[in-house]
Amino acid sequence: MLIDNHGRVINYLRLAVTDRCNLRCFYCMPEGGIDWLARNDLMTYEEMLRICALTVKMGVEKIRITGGEPFVRKDIMDFLTDLTAINGLKQVSITTNGVVTAPLIPELKKLGIHSINLSLDTLDKNRFYAITHRDEFNAVMHTMDQLLLNDMEVKINAVVMDGKNIEDILPLVNLTKDLPVSVRFIEEMPFNGGDKHYTTLKWDHLKILEAIKEYYPEITKVQDPAFSTSYNYHIPGHKGNVGIIAAYTRSFCGTCNRIRITPLGMMKTCLYDGGVLSIKNLMRAGEDDLAIETAIRDAINHRHLNGWEAEKSTRHESMAAIGG
Ligand code: SAM
Ligand code: SF4
Repeated sequence: MLIDNHGRVINYLRLAVTDRCNLRCFYCMPEGGIDWLARNDLMTYEEMLRICALTVKMGVEKIRITGGEPFVRKDIMDFLTDLTAINGLKQVSITTNGVVTAPLIPELKKLGIHSINLSLDTLDKNRFYAITHRDEFNAVMHTMDQLLLNDMEVKINAVVMDGKNIEDILPLVNLTKDLPVSVRFIEEMPFNGGDKHYTTLKWDHLKILEAIKEYYPEITKVQDPAFSTSYNYHIPGHKGNVGIIAAYTRSFCGTCNRIRITPLGMMKTCLYDGGVLSIKNLMRAGEDDLAIETAIRDAINHRHLNGWEAEKSTRHESMAAIGG
């Protein structure tokens, strides 16, 4: 079992397989994109599989594949086939924007992918374009339909942005009425690949809950699963659930069970740190598994207490280069 210097269990790895993306969500990257990583700097699939197998041996039970957009990386399905075959790995989940995901769903299901987080900030085609700078709303909705048709576990992630999609909160909550989905509202974080565009967060988790309560005063808190980053709620009579993720407020650091690996092969022990160990450099220097395991354990033994501590020594980048 992996335990950090503050007594927190680490059993969850988020692996960003690329920084490339086919959308330009304004909260994640500038319209012109970011300085894409050179192909040689991206980890190879072999390197990623090696890290995954090693961390699973060390105690990781669940891996989430993210990006950038994971499904724009060539041969991703071959990688997922190898990943899901790792001995001892209990769950593989994926976060996707859904633009090119629909045709792959039957195969994802066959591979035993545990759940899909679909990012969808609005149910309005025009607002979708305004937020993502791409005309892909129909493709994403088609992916949602196909996920449900194929009985996949679906969570919908919506970043709540002042002046951009507040009118979408209620329609998104209403999806839970007839659909067995979990709709999770995320506080916007300052990771847009450009300048920080707010100094205080207007729509924090409390305000989001208040907005929902205006329409659904009967909404009730349900038990949060262990290590949950969301506060979870249910509206009586609805098939799905509502979650609120205090990603900026950072109220979940005390039970944080996750580490991240960026497309560059940097390990982050906190979303808000600037990267604490280049596992890729160790691998490319020819280090053996024992040396890499020792370096990972050392990084986990020097973990920041929380995101406020971690961000003191770093600058904010694009979420596409981190993985969310
Ligand atoms: N491209 C995929 C997608 O959008 O689902 C996976 C990568 S994306 C970086 C992972 C998650 O991070 C998405 O749910 C996205 O909404 C969220 N995210 C990106 N930038 C964010 C920000 N500034 N604040 C809060 N969440 C953000
Ligand atoms: Fe791409 Fe996901 Fe970032 Fe949107 S949030 S720009 S879909 S990586």
